[in-house]
Amino acid sequence: MPNDLPLRKIIHVDMDAFYASVEELDNPELKGKPVAVGGNEIRGVVSAANYEARKYGVRSAMSGYLAKKNCPELIFVKPRYDRYKEISKQIRAIFHDYTDLVEPLSLDEAYLDVTVNKKGNPSASLIAKEIRQRIFNELGLAASAGISINKFIAKVASDFNKPNGQKTVNPEEVLEFLENLDIRKFYGVGKVTAQKMYKLGIFTGKDLKAKTLDFLDNHFGKSGRYYYHVVRGIHNSEVKPHRIPKSVGAERTFSENLSSEIFMLERLQHIAEELERRLIKSKIAGKTVTLKIKYSDFTLNTRSKTLPYFVSNKELILETAKELLYQEELHNSVRLLGISLANLNTEKKKIETKEEIISVQLKFEF
Ligand SMILES: [Mg+2]
Repeated sequence: MPNDLPLRKIIHVDMDAFYASVEELDNPELKGKPVAVGGNEIRGVVSAANYEARKYGVRSAMSGYLAKKNCPELIFVKPRYDRYKEISKQIRAIFHDYTDLVEPLSLDEAYLDVTVNKKGNPSASLIAKEIRQRIFNELGLAASAGISINKFIAKVASDFNKPNGQKTVNPEEVLEFLENLDIRKFYGVGKVTAQKMYKLGIFTGKDLKAKTLDFLDNHFGKSGRYYYHVVRGIHNSEVKPHRIPKSVGAERTFSENLSSEIFMLERLQHIAEELERRLIKSKIAGKTVTLKIKYSDFTLNTRSKTLPYFVSNKELILETAKELLYQEELHNSVRLLGISLANLNTEKKKIETKEEIISVQLKFEF
């Protein structure tokens, strides 16, 4: 492991109950009442709940029906993504006063690398404090922050003193912090993985650290390597600006060129299913469906249609893709078909777990 790479100062800023807080900000009569953005008592799912609603067990991704059952007083509000995007932009403008190394994870979360920053401030903790104060003063919204030597720890730490708080894990505290960390708090460990870890006797970072790389690799594949390193404070994934995808898509190249529309429709169905899986995984919906057709002579043709509402389910996507397919005559046999979705609602981004390796130098001024 190279020892000469500098440690970084990373801040993870996470807005508190973002969508719901924006709704409260714009409709002060909602303040103090339980609010859910998205869904309703009959159908749909909650995309965000304010802290008042959370007291009753209302959570995001919960069905509107169950949410209302848990909290009869619950007020459902329609999401206004354009408004959330607008505020998100203003928040990012504040970030950019400190550094241009800003990597949004979604509309309400971002990583900032402030190792070198525009204010010449050596304290990442003080920068985080100032940023949160500015977000509050200028936009009237609360944010939490985690501050540490890498993205992984910063992300985990931002959850510690939520809402409206921050936590710094200094370089010399990193190893102990990770050892004492509940395995469920490890970023990237979901419910299913946590269950698997429990069965292997892994409940804390310390338990995780006791396992060999081979062991983790055998049980968790590529993620095993990631777990092995992050628990040792090693996670050198850089803060990469502009990582929000503008579109999500799926496509297939065929071993034999297709000339029958019947076969194409069948393939499109698989592609729509694949696309739906990706959309669900990253909680994205979009309005613009694009059909991509590559002919056997390698000419490319794309056709798009923008719907008046966000879609993420395969039926609607397929229906639109079919319509686009029939829009024009095919001029040759087809070797590739693809469907993509743009004009996305949340601009959510898949989490990357790729990491390079650095060592933890404990005497790093923080
Ligand atoms: Mg948040």
